[in-house]
Amino acid sequence: MECVVVGAGVSGLSCAIRLLEKGYDVRIMAKEFSPDLVSDVAAALWYPFLAHPIEKTDRWGAETYSELMRLGEEEPMSGITMRFGREYLREVVELPGWRNNITHFRVLESDEIPEGWIFGWEFESPIIEMHHYMPWLLQRTRELGGIIEENVVEDLDEISADVIVNCSGIGARELCQDTEVKPVRGQIIYIDQDPGFGRFDQQPETLTYTIARRDCTVLGGTAQSDDWSLELRDSDRETILEKCEAVWPELDRSKIIGESVGLRPSRSEVRLESEIVNDTLIIHNYGHGGAGVTLSWGCADEVVSLIEES
Ligand SMILES: Cc1cc2nc3c(=O)[nH]c(=O)nc-3n(C[C@H](O)[C@H](O)[C@H](O)COP(=O)(O)OP(=O)(O)OC[C@H]3O[C@@H](n4cnc5c(N)ncnc54)[C@H](O)[C@@H]3O)c2cc1C
Repeated sequence: MECVVVGAGVSGLSCAIRLLEKGYDVRIMAKEFSPDLVSDVAAALWYPFLAHPIEKTDRWGAETYSELMRLGEEEPMSGITMRFGREYLREVVELPGWRNNITHFRVLESDEIPEGWIFGWEFESPIIEMHHYMPWLLQRTRELGGIIEENVVEDLDEISADVIVNCSGIGARELCQDTEVKPVRGQIIYIDQDPGFGRFDQQPETLTYTIARRDCTVLGGTAQSDDWSLELRDSDRETILEKCEAVWPELDRSKIIGESVGLRPSRSEVRLESEIVNDTLIIHNYGHGGAGVTLSWGCADEVVSLIEES
């Protein structure tokens, strides 16, 4: 059975790998590839953020957490490490549903919470270094026999295959005329300094993060809805630094080494469903917002299940 996966971001490549592992013939068509995708800009921390519905994202997230942890242990070239982080909140909230599916979670004591916040938790989570992970995903796809083609798909109808898996991210806005897909702009800074443990405030309005990779720390962030600009902004840089300094006072601005910007493919709900058009099974898998990496393997497994059920 021939499957065409549209898109070579983290969603498309994860689906391609799962399908190849199951023995399907897979062709990937994409108009752009790593390192020019939002998937390359992802910070990337495993943490369900800006993605819905929660019942599904908790499940996809839990499945992805296990798989990322396994890859970190068994595939050193994938660039995945486990790290502790602390999430700070300005109000007391219900604990997240995913807390029982991860290796470490505890509520913080009051003397562990910086001034300005009143609640929080510590968690252990995979950090995915996308400059290693995206090449690793591409290489794994090729090793398994996946065929990769540069191709702009104007209409899913033009593809001849038994199954089409649509992982076009923000491109789905045009490809499927899905106006629910909107960008949520994110700007980040790279700094050559390690905070020890990650410090976070991941509410969209106050979004702050320090994500420690092995070679640098990623500082963020912004979550600007319906903002299509890929220009770096001085005002955003300053806001990010001020927010990070509030949770990490030792931050040394002289150690900044770079910055980047990307558009999260946001949607009111992730679209993961099947439809049949002209006798072809189409599985849509897009709109993962700020959690495309976090949900990637759980969604890929569900794509395979939908194909097998059909
Ligand atoms: C600053 C920032 C930080 C982030 N941090 C995190 C994080 O810590 N953790 C996390 O989980 N997520 C994070 N994200 C979100 C994450 O980057 C996205 O959710 C994820 O990359 C989306 O992946 P995707 O494969 O769906 O889309 P993309 O990476 O955009 O890939 C889409 C693919 O579809 C192709 N395509 C589109 N239209 C067409 C067409 N018509 N024809 C052919 N090909 C087409 C594109 O060329 C591309 O290959 C972050 C995002 C930003 C901006």
